[in-house]
Amino acid sequence: MDFAVARKRMVGELVKRGITDQRVIDAMLSVPRHLFVEEAMSSQAYSDTSLPIGEKQTISQPYIVARMTELLELKGKERVLELGTGSGYQAAILATLTDRVYTVERIRPLALKARKVLDRLGLLNVNLKIGDGTDGWPEEAPFDGIVVTAGAPHVPECLVEQLAPGGRLVIPVGDRNDQRMVRVVKNADGSVVTEQSLDCRFVRLIGRNGWSEDS
Ligand code: SAM
Repeated sequence: MDFAVARKRMVGELVKRGITDQRVIDAMLSVPRHLFVEEAMSSQAYSDTSLPIGEKQTISQPYIVARMTELLELKGKERVLELGTGSGYQAAILATLTDRVYTVERIRPLALKARKVLDRLGLLNVNLKIGDGTDGWPEEAPFDGIVVTAGAPHVPECLVEQLAPGGRLVIPVGDRNDQRMVRVVKNADGSVVTEQSLDCRFVRLIGRNGWSEDS
């Protein structure tokens, strides 16, 4: 299979669905998604679908990755926090678009696998931590962008606090089956504006400021 051709075709579909930010389009064209899934699944890597990555978790659908990234409006110099590293694919997209990326994953085997792929691609501007990301990463705050790639029951206040003035938080919020993408923009004076975007369906954000493990 020619992965470059398949990737180009997939990105063409994303553009048809409304992705317009040229920097995001270029990032989606350059990051080899097939390296972030099991080899047995690599032929499906350029379908616009989420795929299992083990530990009952998924690599997100490319359209959702592109849309969430667009909502961050990255120009290239931002510090961005991602919660839910999973396969590392979204972190790789972010790392090609901006200076410094911080990502947190609660499941150790997934985090270790993601680190290996990110290193293989030379994406050394990604700092990865294993733990509960619902507390954010206070030692490295403030962030110009925060993206949460698991479904939350509400917007954790500590994440809003960790946004820099002008910063943007993108997070799916809802019940355990269906969520709506929420974007919180922090103004220069510290006030916030909350906007709702597309409907989506993510695995749960589990932790102190998310869902409890047995909920
Ligand atoms: N961004 C990922 C990618 O590109 O492959 C997809 C993320 S997957 C849909 C959601 C991930 O969030 C899972 O790997 C899950 O273990 C992780 N997760 C859930 N709750 C978390 C928490 N409190 N802190 C960190 N990671 C969490």
